[in-house]
This record gives sequence, C-alpha cells and structure tokens, in this order.
Amino acid sequence: MNHRNIDINISKETAAMLKEVTQFSLQVVRPAGIELDKLPDPEQVIAPGSRLWEVIQGHREMGLHTLYLPKHVGGLADGLDPMATLLLNEQLGYADAGLAISLSVACMPFALAALIPDPELQQLARDFCEDKKGQLIGCWAITEPDHGTDWFLGGANPKCAPGLTAELKGDEYIINGEKSSWVSNGTIATHAVLHVALDPSRGMHGQGVAVLPLNLPGISKGKPLDKMGQRALNQGSIIFQDARVPKKYMVIAHPDLLNEAAKRGTGLATVNGGTAIIMAGLARAAFDEALEYAKKRIQGGTTLFEHAPIKLKLLRMFSQVEAVRAAVRRMNLYNRQNPMAPAVAHAVAAKILATETATDVASDAMQIFGGYGLAREFSIEKMFRDARASMIEDGVNDALAIKAADFL
Ligand SMILES: Cc1cc2nc3c(=O)[nH]c(=O)nc-3n(C[C@H](O)[C@H](O)[C@H](O)COP(=O)(O)OP(=O)(O)OC[C@H]3O[C@@H](n4cnc5c(N)ncnc54)[C@H](O)[C@@H]3O)c2cc1C
Repeated sequence: MNHRNIDINISKETAAMLKEVTQFSLQVVRPAGIELDKLPDPEQVIAPGSRLWEVIQGHREMGLHTLYLPKHVGGLADGLDPMATLLLNEQLGYADAGLAISLSVACMPFALAALIPDPELQQLARDFCEDKKGQLIGCWAITEPDHGTDWFLGGANPKCAPGLTAELKGDEYIINGEKSSWVSNGTIATHAVLHVALDPSRGMHGQGVAVLPLNLPGISKGKPLDKMGQRALNQGSIIFQDARVPKKYMVIAHPDLLNEAAKRGTGLATVNGGTAIIMAGLARAAFDEALEYAKKRIQGGTTLFEHAPIKLKLLRMFSQVEAVRAAVRRMNLYNRQNPMAPAVAHAVAAKILATETATDVASDAMQIFGGYGLAREFSIEKMFRDARASMIEDGVNDALAIKAADFL
C-alpha cells in the first residue's frame, strides 16, 4: 500500500468508504483469493464453507453489491460521489482480480432489471439490493462454445449467428443451446443476463437479451472450469434444453433495439470500462509487491532497491501503473456522465492498456523477485496468471482493438 492517491476533491464520505473497503480487501479478499487459487479442484472454490462465501457476504454487508443499482430500488449508484465506485473497485482489484470480477458481474442481471418498468423485475432488483447473504448472484452469459470473438466481430454474417436460440410461442420463449464454460459465476449464478438469437438469419444483428432466473425447468449447469489464472473466479457453462421462459423476461425483444445501443457502444464501454478499473488495481498490486520485496532482499551486500537497474525498472513500472490509473479514471468519469453517448474507443483502449500493463508489470515484478517470483509461496506468480487471463477476458484484446477502431 505504498501508492499515494493524488486525485483531489474526494468527498469525506468517499474517503471513509475507501478506508473501510481497503481494510476488507486486505484482511478478507486478498487472503481468500490466495487460498482459493491454491485449491486443486474448482468445485472446492464454490463448496459450502469455502472462503468465497465469506467474501461475497462481506461485500453484501457493506452494500457494495448495489454500487451500480439506482436509488429507487435501494442501490447506491446515484447517491455516490462518481469517483467512489472507481476507487472502491480498483481497491478490490488490488486485493484479488478474479474475486473482484466475480463480485462486479454478480449485479448485472439485477442492474438491468432495475431499468425495466415491470413490477416483477423491479422487485427482483430490490430483492438483490436487500440480499445481505449472497442468495442472489448474477452472471452475464454471452460466449458460446462455437462463438467467442464472433460476439464482437461477427456482424450480420449468418455464419456467426448465436447458436443459442429463443423462439416465441404464445406467452413464452423456447430456449435451446449452450453458453460456454467461460461464463463468470456460471455455476453459482441464480440469474443471468442472457444473449440469444431471435433471428439467426441476421447473424449477431439478430440478437435479443433476457434477464431470467436459472432455476427454470430445462436449464442446467456444467462443471466449474479449471484454468490457469483468476482461479478464485467461478466459471462454468449453462445449458438450455427446451427451457420455457416467460415472454416478459426478454427485456430486449427486438434486435433493432440492441443494434441501436450497439451502434452507440454502450454495452462495450460499460463492461470494458469496469474490467479496466479492476485491472488497474491488479497492476498497482504487482508494483507494490515488487517494491516491498526490493526493499527487503539483500544481494551484493545491499537491498535490491539500492541497485540502479532495479530503481530504473521500478520507476518505469510505477509510471506505467500511474498512467493506467489516470486514463481509466478519466474515461470512467466521462462515461458515467454520458451513458447515452459513451467514449467507446477510450473505454476499450483503457481495458487493453490496463490488462497489458497489469501483465507487463507483474512480469517485471517476477523478474525483480528472481527465482522466488516463480514460487507459489509468494503471490506474484498468481498475480501474473490473473493478469494474463485478463487480456482474453471481456473480449480478446486484438479483437476489441479492431472493434474499437470503428469508434475513433
Ligand atoms: C477470465 C475470463 C472471464 C470471462 N468471463 C466471461 C463472462 O462473464 N461471460 C461470457 O459470456 N464470457 C466470458 N469470457 C469469455 C471471453 O469473452 C471469450 O473467451 C473471448 O471473447 C474470446 O472468445 P474465445 O475464447 O472463444 O476465443 P476465439 O473467439 O476462438 O478467438 C481465438 C483467437 O482468434 C482470434 N480471432 C477470432 N476471430 C477473429 C476474427 N474474426 N478476426 C481476427 N481474429 C480473430 C482472437 O482474437 C483470438 O486471438 C471470459 C473469459 C475469460 C478468460
């Protein structure tokens, strides 16, 4: 925790919240993430009594799950200083990037429900805000086994159409298909934001979006995914076999509505903007580990820190981290104030910059640790693995860059 916060004009309330969240993140989230990462079987991460639930409940008790939900359903979104959400989420990313992603994705279906003027969906959003135990958990189900980058670059090509289809019959949609094992919170989620093909002949331009509970007949889950980085983040597939979903859950029921929003890049800017904050936190964490180690480790009769090449490397890493934090904050503050016309290229650029910086800084930190950087006893190798995953998460960086160029 060596970083000075040089953003001025932070309210007293935000400073107090940040202090409380910093304590929670370092005392609960960081150690839980390290412990969960070491579990050999991802089933153990989500087992009753696992530290994952302690993290989720602590987050709920502090009301942090409502950061993106509006006041009329009990959320904090419109009452807070705009900088607060950024600082708090960066701090959670600092503690553990995979858990921070899980916690932020958890609100997605409920935040969307809050925007829909249907009494049942409004109540769902209110129930989420009141849930202090983690009984309601959301996910964003978009990627499919045969369609990953197609969601970003597929366009109107019918060959790229989603495999998961929703067909309207009377008052219900009949949903068939599979969302891939990459869905974050996939096996623990109670509700999903689900992207479907309403008209496969229009490729990705024929999509609709549903908000739905995942306990309906015909919906099942795969096994938790075993992977290299962000191991504390639960991921898994969701399978639909003739699932009958009430019509009102299809909250974007006409592709043209989604295509209009996609032209503005609202969804892309929101999700990439959120990931960028968390990964800026991870970049800062990797730097702090390296600085602390360099000041303790003795080689050549003095600390590593006293050797000029190490000082040069540390200052370069520090510059990279601060540049990312500044860009991410600036972009997110702008987009929060301009939700209908967000700065999309800025948001994607910030995601790419933050994830690449987190990976580079974690790699440089490993170099400063020498052989110990590879040892599981220290957390730097975990940070490197967590950072590396983020260059694929939320869209592969190259594919995102191709997409974002259209918004320049
Ligand atoms: C940690 C993590 C969390 C995730 N969370 C979620 C989640 O919550 N919900 C969810 O739905 N998904 C999630 N994903 C999935 C993620 O969005 C996909 O992995 C990503 O979009 C890439 O899809 P893919 O893995 O199928 O790769 P592919 O699409 O198969 O791409 C493989 C490679 O080919 C390149 N490529 C593919 N198509 C093109 C093209 N047309 N032109 C040029 N290059 C191309 C890509 O850039 C990439 O390098 C997550 C992934 C990770 C790693």
